[in-house]
Amino acid sequence: MGTTPNIQRDVVIIGAGPSGLTAAHELTKAGLTVAVLEARDRVGGRTWTETIDGAWLELGGQWVSPDQTALIALLDELGLATYSRYRDGDSVYIAPDGTRTRYTGEMFPVSAGTAAEMDKLIDTLDALAAAMDPARPWEHPQARELDIISFHHWLRGQSTDEEACNNIGLFIAGGMLTKPAHAFSALQAVLMASSAGSFSHLVDDNFILDKRVVGGMQGVSLALAERLGKNVILNSPARTVRWEETDGDYRATVISDNATVTAKRVVMAVPPNLYSRVSFDPPLPRRQHQMHQHQSLGFVIKVHAVYDTPFWRADGLSGTGFSASSLVQEVYDNTNHGDARGTLVGFVSDEKADYAFSLSPEQRKKEITTALAEFLGDGAAEPAVYYESDWGAEEWTRGAYAASYDLGGLHRYGPDQLTPVGPIHWSSSDLAAEGYQHVDGAVRMGQDTAATLIAALTK
Ligand SMILES: Cc1cc2nc3c(=O)[nH]c(=O)nc-3n(C[C@H](O)[C@H](O)[C@H](O)COP(=O)(O)OP(=O)(O)OC[C@H]3O[C@@H](n4cnc5c(N)ncnc54)[C@H](O)[C@@H]3O)c2cc1C
Repeated sequence: MGTTPNIQRDVVIIGAGPSGLTAAHELTKAGLTVAVLEARDRVGGRTWTETIDGAWLELGGQWVSPDQTALIALLDELGLATYSRYRDGDSVYIAPDGTRTRYTGEMFPVSAGTAAEMDKLIDTLDALAAAMDPARPWEHPQARELDIISFHHWLRGQSTDEEACNNIGLFIAGGMLTKPAHAFSALQAVLMASSAGSFSHLVDDNFILDKRVVGGMQGVSLALAERLGKNVILNSPARTVRWEETDGDYRATVISDNATVTAKRVVMAVPPNLYSRVSFDPPLPRRQHQMHQHQSLGFVIKVHAVYDTPFWRADGLSGTGFSASSLVQEVYDNTNHGDARGTLVGFVSDEKADYAFSLSPEQRKKEITTALAEFLGDGAAEPAVYYESDWGAEEWTRGAYAASYDLGGLHRYGPDQLTPVGPIHWSSSDLAAEGYQHVDGAVRMGQDTAATLIAALTK
């Protein structure tokens, strides 16, 4: 074993996902020196574009919505183009009794009574989200009241229509936080809506799943890393952060597998569930120790199924399907830009993902492709390429898509989630206001953290 190099920089960033790399990019533009330590052998974190069995797949984050202006501006700056998701034709809804119905528009083809209940719940959630500043959800007039009740039970307090509650629950529980609706609070649900502009935006797949990046979302991180050159150090998990303060000046040392970096500030650009993988000396304050134990990642399997052609289009289907009762709760046409083959993407979330992983790989594939076929026809049961993104098994992520608080945690700890500890700052999509849990939020956090550090270090 050789000795690892000792590097001196203004700022050391832990994590080369979109948040850490955006921070590094902004700091460099302001004339500060940086080193980015990345545990994996690649950059991009939860964005990862890979060719598997000859199929080009977006294994992690991929969609961009019109409100995600920080990401859209960065895509422009990096010269990355976007394209629209295919969405022509009918969508498919599978009711709790298994009935399959084709429909157009946003409202599921449910009974008039259930539709009215869904509209009522959407209006209520829109009003709650409008009264929230996503940067300060704990200041919402009903913050505590909403944070001490699970989203599941809150929904049932608003409506006795079980199908309406499950359908509305789907958009945030299975669809976004990827936890069962009984495992997070109504306040956390309202934050999810508020961070996307409104709850109505989450219901509108044409809005929330609007565009994709030509060449893949990981291209954002690859382009940023290219500009940072040798300042990005791969295969180098940070193990220890040590720091001291002398006369108001910080000196921090980060020890990682491939480099030891001394710097004035440290950016922890990793999801909060991974903070405890690093040893801090001195230890973090008790408030952080406690808070980080209440932030956990959701769990979803992103399923990719590739076919010789997008055959569902010939049948007048868009490829979009929803069902709160199916193993695959959502399915979309995910055909790549300029690709003759057709790709479907489906999501198996939270307790359904637990169930799916209790099966053998063969049985899991069978049950998942059978569910795809129930939406889009028998052809969907026989993909040429089939792959499951399994982020729960990834050492340096441990779930998908992102972190949320357990019941009561958001109003209890949230006000301190961005409070620096000495020279240490926190930056990830999991802590964002606008763009929370999304690449846009990661970019915003990286920009905000960089702005704070530029103000502190260049005065
Ligand atoms: C399956 C899936 C689908 C998604 N879909 C979408 C979508 O369609 N649209 C969207 O906008 N978002 C989506 N997301 C979310 C989006 O990908 C994330 O919000 C975003 O990548 C978070 O960026 P980040 O930089 O905050 O964290 P990450 O991307 O997680 O980056 C953190 C980095 O830190 C590294 N790291 C961790 N610990 C250490 C350590 N000790 N030392 C050094 N390095 C370390 C990790 O390896 C990683 O590279 C999806 C995510 C997943 C998993």
